Amino acid sequence: MATITEGFLDAPIFSVIGETAAEIGVRAFVIGGYVRDCFLYGKGSGDIDVVVEGSGIELAEAVARKLKVRKIAVYRNFGTAMFHRDGLEIEFVGARKESYDRTSRKPIVEDGTIEEDQLRRDFTINAMAFSLQKEDFGALVDPFGGIRDLAEGIIRTPLDPDVTYSDDPLRMLRAVRFACRLSTPDHPFNIVPESIESMKRNTGRLAILSKERIVEELSKILLTSRPSKGFFLLEETGLLKEILPDLVKLKGVETVDGKGHKENFSHTLQVVDNVAALEEAAIERGERAEKNVWLRWAALLHDIGKPASKRFAPGTGWTFHGHEVIGGRMVPEIFRKMKMPSNEKMKYVQKLVELHLRPIALVDGEVTDSAVRRLIFDAGDDLEDLMLLCNADITSKNPAKVERIKANFRLVSEKIVQVEAKDAIRNFKNPISGDYIMEVYGLSPCNTIGLIKERVKDAILDGEIPNEFEAADALMREVAAGYGLTPVK
Ligand code: ATP
Ligand code: MG
Repeated sequence: MATITEGFLDAPIFSVIGETAAEIGVRAFVIGGYVRDCFLYGKGSGDIDVVVEGSGIELAEAVARKLKVRKIAVYRNFGTAMFHRDGLEIEFVGARKESYDRTSRKPIVEDGTIEEDQLRRDFTINAMAFSLQKEDFGALVDPFGGIRDLAEGIIRTPLDPDVTYSDDPLRMLRAVRFACRLSTPDHPFNIVPESIESMKRNTGRLAILSKERIVEELSKILLTSRPSKGFFLLEETGLLKEILPDLVKLKGVETVDGKGHKENFSHTLQVVDNVAALEEAAIERGERAEKNVWLRWAALLHDIGKPASKRFAPGTGWTFHGHEVIGGRMVPEIFRKMKMPSNEKMKYVQKLVELHLRPIALVDGEVTDSAVRRLIFDAGDDLEDLMLLCNADITSKNPAKVERIKANFRLVSEKIVQVEAKDAIRNFKNPISGDYIMEVYGLSPCNTIGLIKERVKDAILDGEIPNEFEAADALMREVAAGYGLTPVK
């Protein structure tokens, strides 16, 4: 094929790699994501994968010597080597052909040609290579029509998809991820139908993947601009049922007496997309530093308690009372099953799930200072994230209704700002500590101390007394007297 890649290999590193390969007597190619992104975005990313018909490690070491790069990471087990240069990360690997043992996604690897190597790659759009040889420097090596699939927005495996997916089932999740990540409104990417059918047949193969790898792919899908596309695909192929069965239970609409409820699966995915859009807009405005994958997990799980709380009451219709509490309780179990961290990230997701109705509950009623103070206190530092999730959760087929709720929601947001400016509730610390109560009344630890503290806290949050020591101390003395306590000092 003619050289059509002008400009893509201008960085000096590429010719150095080509020359060094010639000196050693091997052929080298740039392959994968870099090539794909050149055609898609007009330039490659900073991650460059080089494939060598020979030893990747040997070429990497020779290039590093020539460029006087001192730090080079060598992974003998994988036959790869990597170093950084001019802000680029360059990874070298030997071309290989592979066969698989059914029980693992670790291939049995043998040396191969460039074409054999391309054949074992996941998708045609990821299997394109640029030659680094002097005689055809920059030529596109594309035996499977990756360039055509890129133009048409097609995700297709070079081999029979049953072979590709069964050998390494992670590729099914990668297919979904690339369909999400590469799609734009003007240029959608779709997985070819025979691949979708193959995924349906291979869902059971997910069993050989570690949970951590699955979660990593899900998180990457969640971090795209329109994660719903990915989750609809995961559902359609049956993969989601294997991975997160609780999410699939949100699907469908039950009807009694002609009354249906919201379709909670598509609603959930709409909320995830809304969170992505709101977060990206906030980043654009400089109000947020970066995407928060845990906020997206919270969006994905926010209604997870709905199936378990669903009731039909004649007259009232469908209710999901307490779904936020049930959902919050389900979060630790889901995290545990998925081998996700059971640390403050899990607690954060749990908290957002538990609180996700609170701001909207304020919208419906009268917005009192004390309700706002409670919300600020309960959400703490996660208040902005909770408000973003809550805003994203306003979905309805009725645009007038959405507008009305959004307008009220803005009022609540303003009220929060006002109350925050007035009272320091965000990182509220009770001015009256347990130690102080024990000291004043000469007590050893007992229930009464907790009750007094609680009463003082409630009084501050309800706005009965200001958030100050003097007022809190006076109330403590009043409450303690009620319990028959007298100060020892
Ligand atoms: P990204 O921009 O996300 O890094 P990428 O295409 O570079 O996209 P990587 O995961 O970095 O993706 O992998 C580099 C290349 O290695 C891919 O383009 C693909 O050719 C190949 N590859 C990666 N993982 C697999 C896999 N599981 N099976 C087959 N080929 C794979
Ligand atoms: Mg990459």
